[in-house]
Amino acid sequence: MKKVYEFKEGSKQMVSVLGGKGANLSEMVNIGMPIPYGIIISTDACNEYFENDCVIPEITKDEILKNISLLEHETGKKFQSQKPLLVSVRSGAPVSMPGMMDTILNLGFNDFVAEKLNEILNNEKFVYESYARFIEMFSEIARGIDRKKFENIDKNDYKKRIKESKEIYKKECGEDFPETYKEQIFIAVKSIFDSWNNERAILYRKLHNIDEKMGTAVVIQEMVFGNFNENSGTGVLFTRNPSNGEDKIFGEFLLNAQGEDIVAGIRTPEDIERLKEKLPEVHTQLFEIAKKLELHNKDMQDIEFTIEDSKLFILQTRNGKRTAEAALKIALDFVKEGILTKEEAVLKVEPSSIAKLLNGDFNEESLKKAKFLTKGLAASSGVAVGRVVFDPKRAKIREKTILVREETSPEDLQGMALAKGIVTVKGGATSHGAVVARGMGKCCVTGCSEIKIDEIKKQMTIGDVVIKEDEFISVNGHTGEIFLGRVALKEAAFDTRLHEFISWASEVKRMNVRMNADTPEDAKQGKDFGANGIGLCRTEHMFFKEDKIWAIRDFILSDDGEEKINALKKVYELQKNDFLKIFEILDGDVANIRLLDPPVHEFLPKTKEDKEKMAQILNTTYEDIEKRIFKLKDENPMLGHRGCRLGVSFPRLYRMQGRAIIEAAWECHLKGIKVKPEIMIPFVMEAKELKYLKQEIKEEIEDLFKENNGRIDYKIGTMIEIPRACLLANEIAEVADYFSFGTNDLTQMSMGLSRDDSVKFLDEYRKKQIWEGEPFYSIDKKAVGKLVELGVKLGRGTNPDLSIGVCGEHGGDPESIEFFENLNFNYVSCSPFRVPTAILAAAHAYLKNKK
Ligand code: PEP
Ligand code: MG
Repeated sequence: MKKVYEFKEGSKQMVSVLGGKGANLSEMVNIGMPIPYGIIISTDACNEYFENDCVIPEITKDEILKNISLLEHETGKKFQSQKPLLVSVRSGAPVSMPGMMDTILNLGFNDFVAEKLNEILNNEKFVYESYARFIEMFSEIARGIDRKKFENIDKNDYKKRIKESKEIYKKECGEDFPETYKEQIFIAVKSIFDSWNNERAILYRKLHNIDEKMGTAVVIQEMVFGNFNENSGTGVLFTRNPSNGEDKIFGEFLLNAQGEDIVAGIRTPEDIERLKEKLPEVHTQLFEIAKKLELHNKDMQDIEFTIEDSKLFILQTRNGKRTAEAALKIALDFVKEGILTKEEAVLKVEPSSIAKLLNGDFNEESLKKAKFLTKGLAASSGVAVGRVVFDPKRAKIREKTILVREETSPEDLQGMALAKGIVTVKGGATSHGAVVARGMGKCCVTGCSEIKIDEIKKQMTIGDVVIKEDEFISVNGHTGEIFLGRVALKEAAFDTRLHEFISWASEVKRMNVRMNADTPEDAKQGKDFGANGIGLCRTEHMFFKEDKIWAIRDFILSDDGEEKINALKKVYELQKNDFLKIFEILDGDVANIRLLDPPVHEFLPKTKEDKEKMAQILNTTYEDIEKRIFKLKDENPMLGHRGCRLGVSFPRLYRMQGRAIIEAAWECHLKGIKVKPEIMIPFVMEAKELKYLKQEIKEEIEDLFKENNGRIDYKIGTMIEIPRACLLANEIAEVADYFSFGTNDLTQMSMGLSRDDSVKFLDEYRKKQIWEGEPFYSIDKKAVGKLVELGVKLGRGTNPDLSIGVCGEHGGDPESIEFFENLNFNYVSCSPFRVPTAILAAAHAYLKNKK
């Protein structure tokens, strides 16, 4: 199998083999961009290396050398010859992992090359600095030698500097510095392959759910020198603003510098606009190329370039990372500019980023009163309030922190992931801190040069204000401003742009997205967000409000007989009122209302005062109330007297609820409001349970229709949330009008994990790598998913048109939504604030499935 490719042999489609960088460079060669030529060692070679006990097979080495000859031919230069070739060696995985992997520049140098180059260029400073830089980078990246070891060398005597650097190398790794380009290349390639498994890379992949088995490609490319002279330089640009999406080229450059100077944030770069004054022709050419690349790739591009003696080279282009806000604006603008169709644009925004957009801003009033401290660069939008910490490790032990650093490095990653926001003193909009924060969707302000950090005293000063560790600050990633203390946050906003975008996703998706709404207020919110009706109304939650809880407590604790009937009447009135409002709000959208399913203990009075109040309501003694509570106590409430077991014990309860729902629907119907009521029975494990309850409820509803001399359509369905129900779904489907999977209880019961308690120990499972992820958030496809699959198959085996949905928490999780799409569900249902995310996830899942 071919393992090494020339740029001209590749294309944009070959990402999995050539890595993102290699595929893009190949594509740029194909469209005639000015790029330094090169070759790519594929991800197949990387995987072969790992399978071969981390040794590059001879046959692959031969293939690399053969391609090196082709590179020499193409560039007209030869390694270590009269006209020497120097190359960069970089990693390039199929998905971008910024700052995670390693790069070696200027490879190919030895003393002979330095002399030759000096003869050609007549620039001793440049030549020997490049040579020294190579030795240092090679030592650090390929051999793991600490760069600090090279700091004390005399930098003025060039030749001495080289000699001493090589001596350090020899001392640290026990062998001479490799002089031939072949040795240099093989060591470098091996180290890049190895860097796939360094700690930073592993952590980054974990955080971003990237497949471990992908491997990285290695790009070997002719060096061009941004540090050649004052008409040389290097820079990075985004074709649109990556922070807010504005259609304006956004970037920075440094003259007489190499790329790593910008990324490391050591020198603060200049705004790209200033290139117009310094090198106007290059500026014009660069801006034309940027637009051309954007159009060609149909996406906002992140471009690295180098200018060597007034000649422009594009080093890299890739789809740029951006904030959620920018992703949304760019997707909308690209459709308006005719670059993308709505369907294509929908795929340009990650479902998980919608939550970030809904995460709001600072409250304006509170902001007016806040004490302004300083302003840096708005590197990643969003707002954050937290305690100042200077050490990323402290972000792990403190809650709600703002990590303030001189500059960030990949070692800070975990602390950055845990902090609410990130502030750096140095660095531009493309520095490590900025890029990583944007990827995490985390608020970040960089380049706050007024901040002086004193790590010893654990404090920072801005002018004459001293802020100690653990004091609160507020950071605005939209504007770059930093404030003292805690600024209040604004409620989430669903603005017209997001609304428009979600409406496109809504047109694209196949499944319906319903909401889990328990109150009229929830129903209103979810409808505004675009929900297609209610997928779960937990009637017991309607009682969670202070004044209503007493009605349900009254019912639960009252004596059987007259007292219970009276209590039931009160509950009936309250429920009917809420149902009326809900039907009005839904205005023709379906309302799937679930009959009572309280684990009883959630509702019983717990405090002394509450028990006393209960005794008064029921006109009995405190002791009697305690006795009644004791009698109702389930040893195992989650598996106790709940769900339809309550209905079987007190059929009057479910009859009353059925009546309240249909009577409310009937009254709305009379007012001309369209209604689609669905009555859902929870916790069913056996078809006969459902059959019995359905008959009771139907009888009650038939009585109601007779009393009113008219009827409306309604359905009675069931939740499938017990493993037994999945296994017997064919029998249950004979009785149920529809299924709704309750994946919360199904996960609890099939994994034997308590919904309420598993957080306590699952972390330990993750640390010990027994379990990854959170099963109550994202569905365990391997087992719980299998039960769901079986339930669907058996249910639809009985009734091919059976409507199937899900209303557990998984209904709002993008990954689980894709799973339900693949099983041809009719809908997913989730809490109102997750509806926009779920709509977009459903659209993504449908488009992926269609491919
Ligand atoms: C479920 O079990 O998934 C469900 C939606 O019901 P509840 O969370 O109310 O038990
Ligand atoms: Mg349940």
